[in-house]
Amino acid sequence: MRANVRAYADATRFRPKVRSVDHDGGQRYTAREGFGAEVAYVWCPKSVNHPRFFVHSLPFGLAMKSKGLFRELAKIAGDDGVLWRQEDLMLYEYDALSSLRQPDVVVFPRTTEHVVQIAKSAWRHDLPLVARGAGTGLSGGSVATEGGILLVFSRMKQILEIDLENQRARVQPGVVNLDLSLAVADEGYYYAPDPSSQKACTIGGNVAENSGGPHTLAYGVTTNHVLALEVVLPDGDVIHTGARHWDRPGYDLTGVFVGSEGTLGIVTEATVRLTRKAEAVKTLLAIYNQVVDATRTVAAITARGITPAALEMMDGFTLRAVEEATHAGYPMDCAAVLLIEVEGLREAVEEHADDIEAVCRENNAREVRRAKSAEERDLLWKGRKTAFGALGRISPNYYVQDGVIPRTRLPEMLDFIGSIEKKYDLHIGNIFHAGDGNLHPLIMYDERNRQQTACVVKAAKEIILRCVEMGGSITGEHGVGLEKSDLMPLIFSDDDLELMSRIKNLFNPLGRLNPGKLLPTGKMCGELRGGLAGGSPV
Ligand SMILES: Cc1cc2nc3c(=O)[nH]c(=O)nc-3n(C[C@H](O)[C@H](O)[C@H](O)COP(=O)(O)OP(=O)(O)OC[C@H]3O[C@@H](n4cnc5c(N)ncnc54)[C@H](O)[C@@H]3O)c2cc1C
Repeated sequence: MRANVRAYADATRFRPKVRSVDHDGGQRYTAREGFGAEVAYVWCPKSVNHPRFFVHSLPFGLAMKSKGLFRELAKIAGDDGVLWRQEDLMLYEYDALSSLRQPDVVVFPRTTEHVVQIAKSAWRHDLPLVARGAGTGLSGGSVATEGGILLVFSRMKQILEIDLENQRARVQPGVVNLDLSLAVADEGYYYAPDPSSQKACTIGGNVAENSGGPHTLAYGVTTNHVLALEVVLPDGDVIHTGARHWDRPGYDLTGVFVGSEGTLGIVTEATVRLTRKAEAVKTLLAIYNQVVDATRTVAAITARGITPAALEMMDGFTLRAVEEATHAGYPMDCAAVLLIEVEGLREAVEEHADDIEAVCRENNAREVRRAKSAEERDLLWKGRKTAFGALGRISPNYYVQDGVIPRTRLPEMLDFIGSIEKKYDLHIGNIFHAGDGNLHPLIMYDERNRQQTACVVKAAKEIILRCVEMGGSITGEHGVGLEKSDLMPLIFSDDDLELMSRIKNLFNPLGRLNPGKLLPTGKMCGELRGGLAGGSPV
């Protein structure tokens, strides 16, 4: 095998085999398989130094079967609205979980009618159909595990209507979460669900994942802010759920679609609630020399009857990486910090901030700072919201676990994570929505070290099992996706799962919409599959 083909194989983890020798002595290599046929091969003519990966990248099997399909899709979305070349498809073979599987074709619809036509096409050709927003999902939700058509919403990103009197906005699914808040900020409003990925993730992805964020503690998750949806079903039918201004009688179908991870229908429009900005906001940073004191403070604050708007925790290891990356003003020498925000009427906010400071000090905070300006507050939040990226600077790979436990058990859980760290000789950073008991242990590793990678899988599994034992769940907010579908029986009975399958079959009878996600497939050995297969940092 030629060296550059081998390099390509190493880089992509494909397993090339010589397929045939060309008339000029060059060789063709099958690079991967899929779609029930040979696909994507490499042509390496003798006369050329570099293998021509993409010249012949149109899969043979698919080309035979689907030239008509590509033409059909191009007719719907335009020639510039369809990607099928190998080099283009590679950009869509992973999301933030980094599991690798390419779609066979990527389409960029602009309207609901485009989505309807594309869904009908997929239905006719019996192809998998997967929706994708920004691809920031951490559970492999938008990876086309069985190939087929990937529907990417980056061209459906219009805010269709803003109705401030009624505190509503109607948006296309590709609108970026933060863009909606920015669009209404001058009028004193915002969109409350604020995942840390809000600069990139889309409302469609948020609806599918029922996303939360630092301010979930006070304002709830996405489902609490979605009033109505327009959804395209896999056969191309369009349905409308919910209502803009009143509760409709009948089943809460909006509630069924929110959090269904793209397995029931494709959201083409969402009507969401806008929230009035609070009169006053105070942001506090409580600094601790012992992690256990920080975790005890979390339960103590809520036990006092105070519900902060946000209550986040970062440990010292994470903090140092964050500070080096953002220079947000976090201390470099402590064991943990709590980032706490209170909002509301000016007088109440002052009072709550004083109460919280007192609780922090009673629990051995060595210092409690208050942000003195909006700039200082923004900087602290910037540090928190870019923390995953900051850890990506110090480790070749990391695996983000997402579990949830009752917040009263945080001290015990952090001890347990510490013991796992020692047991497997790993570094684990802890950053989480502490007020909700939603943990994100970030396990550092190097995927080139197979033994270490195997330890990460075991460590992550032990952490998630302990979450379940403590009365928690296998995911707090990143969803089940492809990563954890086979862990569902840990928290649901056979009867529960059977009912969920029946609901799925009702909307998605052929199972071609986002196959292999959310419900157990039993095809692979479940836990954390894919998560460490691709293994690049988020
Ligand atoms: C750095 C970082 C921080 C994060 N922080 C948070 C956080 O604080 N809180 C949180 O909840 N999550 C967080 N996430 C996870 C992720 O950002 C969210 O799950 C987000 O909602 C995904 O949006 P997306 O547009 O990227 O969707 P994608 O990743 O593209 O897709 C996610 C799922 O939604 C489906 N989908 C997308 N669009 C549609 C549609 N129009 N119709 C039907 N299904 C659709 C996909 O098929 C897939 O199953 C974080 C991720 C990163 C990388």
